[in-house]
Amino acid sequence: MNAFKAFRIHERDGKISAGFERMTVDALTAGDVVIRVKYSSINYKDALAATGAGKILRKYPLNGGIDLSGEVVSSEDARYEPGQKVLVTGCGHSETLDGGYAEFARSKGDFVIPLPDGMSLFDAMGLGTAGFTAALALARMEQNGQKPAMGPIVVTGASGGVGTIAIDLLAGRGYEVVAVSGKPEADALLTSLGAAKILRRQDIDLGKRPLEAAQWGGAVDNVGGDILTWLTRTTDNWGNIASIGLAASHKLETTVMPFILRGVSLLGINSSAMPRDVRVGIWKRLATDLKPRHLDRVVTHTIRFDDLPDAFDDYVKNRIMGRTVVQIS
Ligand code: NDP
Repeated sequence: MNAFKAFRIHERDGKISAGFERMTVDALTAGDVVIRVKYSSINYKDALAATGAGKILRKYPLNGGIDLSGEVVSSEDARYEPGQKVLVTGCGHSETLDGGYAEFARSKGDFVIPLPDGMSLFDAMGLGTAGFTAALALARMEQNGQKPAMGPIVVTGASGGVGTIAIDLLAGRGYEVVAVSGKPEADALLTSLGAAKILRRQDIDLGKRPLEAAQWGGAVDNVGGDILTWLTRTTDNWGNIASIGLAASHKLETTVMPFILRGVSLLGINSSAMPRDVRVGIWKRLATDLKPRHLDRVVTHTIRFDDLPDAFDDYVKNRIMGRTVVQIS
């Protein structure tokens, strides 16, 4: 097979550099399914990896991009055949395996998800890791008893990829959604996705007591730190808090009071290390009962592969809303 284009991340003398290179399929990290990549996306983690703002890769060099969708070119795994449409999110791509920012990728059969009926390759990347994670959070909350009647669900980091999709999914299932966002310019988008109320994160009175007045039925938290602490202290009896991200901080300082006096559950969400049957199930739901109603609004940018290097800065500087799809080939 001829050489193809890849966005490759290097570490040299402790410094990260990244750019377009040409490479061959044989040079890709090992895997049993070769995929012609049609679309990828940008997650916060991708921006950290490509710019060096955070340490994401565990080996160098690698092609960036934790997500990809495309068509199988060849497979040593009998579950896949040439021409089949597939997607891959996370699973070590752009950490220890070459990722989706390349015209071809190689993955492991267990990581590959057949594109669910009713979902396009574009929509699969409109969702990407962010959409999968939002749906996983909702599924785990409901598995643990969350219901709309328990009260409003707070979504923090609301204007981001996970946040916008979480709002759309929760509102679609009948939850009253309260968005916490630092960006006034995102208000119209968040309202159009189904947020009933928007709190400006800078203006929230976080309180100090181990338990404050119970206000929320549950929460989807993308930011960690003081806001997550506040959520543990203000969530009502039996509410679930899905802990997804650390956009503000990796710290969580709370007490056992919310857990032993209100029965609050803190659910850890790890999109990468989910058992395969759970991943396949969540993707099927994203094409059926959890299909976002407004993915066209969530995808705020569709960019060409050539434009990728210029797109990361806005993510690192928190100047982006919604999701960016990257058209690879
Ligand atoms: P985005 O960059 O798209 O969105 C993050 C949002 O967080 C921003 O839009 C902003 O929302 C808010 N934010 C940014 N900086 C701060 C800050 N200093 N303090 C408070 N809020 C801030 O990221 P994603 O939606 O892709 O990911 C969200 C988080 O979840 C990230 O930390 C990511 O690493 C993590 N993640 C974890 C996964 C898992 O498996 N556990 C999977 C996917 C993502 P606003 O301006 O509206 O407040």
